[in-house]
Amino acid sequence: MKIGIQTWGSVGDILPFLALAEGLQAAGHQVTVAYIAIDGSKFKAVNNRDKNFTDRKLQARIEQLEANIARYLEELDRADRQPELVPEARVSHLKEKIASIKKQIEGFNEINKQLQQTPDKQISLTDPDARSMATSGRGTGMVGYNVQTAVDTRNHLIVSHEVTNVGHDRTQLASMAAQAQNAIGKQDLTVVADRGYFSGAEILACEKLGVTPLVPKPLTSGNRAQGLFDKTDFIYLAQSDEYQCPAGQRAIRRFTTIEHGLRWHKYWSSACPACPIKAQCTTGTNRRIARWEHEDVLERMQRRFNAWPNPARLRRQTVEHPFGTLKAWMGATHFLTKSLPRVSTEMSLHVLAYNLKRIMRILGTHRLIAAMRA
Ligand code: SF4
Repeated sequence: MKIGIQTWGSVGDILPFLALAEGLQAAGHQVTVAYIAIDGSKFKAVNNRDKNFTDRKLQARIEQLEANIARYLEELDRADRQPELVPEARVSHLKEKIASIKKQIEGFNEINKQLQQTPDKQISLTDPDARSMATSGRGTGMVGYNVQTAVDTRNHLIVSHEVTNVGHDRTQLASMAAQAQNAIGKQDLTVVADRGYFSGAEILACEKLGVTPLVPKPLTSGNRAQGLFDKTDFIYLAQSDEYQCPAGQRAIRRFTTIEHGLRWHKYWSSACPACPIKAQCTTGTNRRIARWEHEDVLERMQRRFNAWPNPARLRRQTVEHPFGTLKAWMGATHFLTKSLPRVSTEMSLHVLAYNLKRIMRILGTHRLIAAMRA
């Protein structure tokens, strides 16, 4: 098994460690990789939050400064009207303040020009690759990177990792699964991930790779929140390509549409207008049910998920260990380097150290040294 290393930096530095990993394989220690847990965690960049600007942040800062100028101008007006109430020193202080704020606004306008040229309308002044990211704590966020890991659930070894500056996990599942396949040299993996990874396109891509994904569906049913039946109350009948609704009626396929690049079939029943339980189902004339053209992939996954004793616990127990360890080692500030290639190399070294310590734990130092010498 290879130690999970990726490098965007100096490949030459990393190669000896890859050889070491091959040595471990030769030593005959069998690492049984049955399941892989994929997860992402946000790591702080060398970029203060005040040095990161989004469109919204920048406008808010400029508006705040303009409001300050308006306040100082009002005070200067008062000084003109009633000079006896505002001392001369205060007047010159206000003028200096206004001049300094105008300079700050000019600076922000300059940043705004650069920001408008960026694809994601965001700019970080210290580390240009770092991005503002939401974290799990309410109202918290950081300027940093999203580190993705694929961890083997048995030994807690990081089999692959990648540093990204994308603030969400929705588009990472298939890519991380493919990297894990390459690292382990095994195609038929089962990967467990949290709701943040739920994406029809990614789950479909995993199946095409030969990977079995296990990702819970996000709980975002607007109908359920309104006390109405949600989609799980409708049974799909594959043979006739219809849905059986809670009233026992059949909703048939009516038309197909493309939304956000995905093909959706729409179903409804003609019985809705006269349905005795319509109030529990829809506020419209007919209850429409949307079905993605590859929805069978998601249904299969849901059945697998329901059959598992506790996939969420397995995932949590697996990924918390490496992320907790890495963050403890890195300290409060996390990354020390700047830019995606350097930060990626920095993380690769941490992952290498983590895996080595982990293998020492598993094999014992003597066997590890023997493996390194072999
Ligand atoms: S409103 Fe239509 S879809 Fe809903 S339960 Fe009644 S017949 Fe079925």
